[in-house]
Amino acid sequence: MPTEDSHPNSPGPTSTERLQAQGSKVHDSGYSEKTHLIHGRNQSDRWDYKHHVVPPLSNSVTFRLDSTSRAARAFVEFGKGHVEGKPPIYIYDRLDEPTRGMLEENLAYAEEGEVGVAFASGMAAIAASVLSWARAGDRILACPVLYGCTYSLFRNWLPRFGVECESLDLNDEEALRRALTPRVRVVYFETPVNPDLSLIDIGRVRRVVDLANAERAPQDRIRIVVDNTFATPYGQRPLTLGAHVVVESLTKNIGGFGTELGGVVVGPAEIESALLGFRKDFGGVLSTKSAWSFLVYGLPTLPVRYRQQQQTAMKVARFLEGDPRIEKVRYPGLESFPQKELARRQMVDYEGHFAPGTLLYFCLKDVPQDPHAGQRLIDFIAENSYTMTLAVSLGQIKTLIEHPYSMTHSALTCTDESAHLVEPGGIRISIGLEKGEDLIRDLREALDAVLGPPGH
Ligand SMILES: *Cc1c(COP(=O)(O)O)cnc(C)c1O
Repeated sequence: MPTEDSHPNSPGPTSTERLQAQGSKVHDSGYSEKTHLIHGRNQSDRWDYKHHVVPPLSNSVTFRLDSTSRAARAFVEFGKGHVEGKPPIYIYDRLDEPTRGMLEENLAYAEEGEVGVAFASGMAAIAASVLSWARAGDRILACPVLYGCTYSLFRNWLPRFGVECESLDLNDEEALRRALTPRVRVVYFETPVNPDLSLIDIGRVRRVVDLANAERAPQDRIRIVVDNTFATPYGQRPLTLGAHVVVESLTKNIGGFGTELGGVVVGPAEIESALLGFRKDFGGVLSTKSAWSFLVYGLPTLPVRYRQQQQTAMKVARFLEGDPRIEKVRYPGLESFPQKELARRQMVDYEGHFAPGTLLYFCLKDVPQDPHAGQRLIDFIAENSYTMTLAVSLGQIKTLIEHPYSMTHSALTCTDESAHLVEPGGIRISIGLEKGEDLIRDLREALDAVLGPPGH
């Protein structure tokens, strides 16, 4: 585990203290995670900025190397990954650079992992998490419903390089046990699953995978990769629940304001050098300006935004559930949520409180003579609602509404094989920072306009 400063504002530990702290838990500093995400490490090996209040934004593509011997050392050391307590010798932005490095330290901390490697987008991170490990001839086992572009990556692109993907209900322990053939190298899923927010039990998947891994050499082991974009590290830490590797889009709730694209892979130290090498050669590098925004605005405000949006999500979910025109509402915080016990076990914030999240999903009651009522509701909102915007993406300060079947999940729904997995009538809402009552007012207005007042 990387060591953490015992006091976020202290001058930082001596090298002896660092050594003593090796093996201590990342989150044992005595300060809360919420505080740590604001202060980060006030002094970083990456860059001495102890006199700055806000970390500096670095904009240097290339770095002064002083001598050929120092340059040679830089290239040798790059391949080995960052060494705690040792300032890296920077060479070129695409390899490593200080602002992004500071963000990576904080993201690793947030996810309770040892290292983080940041990419230009969530998709670049997802591609790296799989391709830096799988080889031609390997298989990926994945949840049948995935983020649309992840589905397309696994179905349209990876097979060209000899990596096949198989879909499986990962909550079916017996089926999973049978599917873990020697060719499987990655088990990949999102939880909550996009868009209907059903959950996958990370700990149970891990127990089954451990049995298969016990017979394998280290280089052949299966890795569990979890996309934590929906819950964010504030609401769930998959590495502490059994995942080997976490990926997430920084574009969504971590960025929070909808201004930057980014992604990260977090996991044990042993994955760092392959990921850095992959990023160097495939080139999906997070820009320093975006890294700086995530570091200075996104991550420090994640806990307050998330908590507030979650409170509002609960209010809106309760309103929808109480409305007779709604067939079902899926929100992990509702009593009616089918996996509420798993939700309470898995979706927990840094303080141990249940964190059901900022997204909700619902379907209108079937109106046989009006199969497109859901889309008409969204269209009404798009045209008339002040507080809700029809747009893909999620986790922003503005509430976003969308129709997964025709939008984010069209990569699945355009195939015969997977179309039935996404409900044509489903609607997804990503709750922003508006007042809950205002969102409810706009929803009620739209329901009345499209379906008539309740009871009619
Ligand atoms: C948005 C998203 C991604 C992809 O992230 P980008 O930053 O847009 O590349 C991956 N997984 C999930 C669950 C997402 O919502």
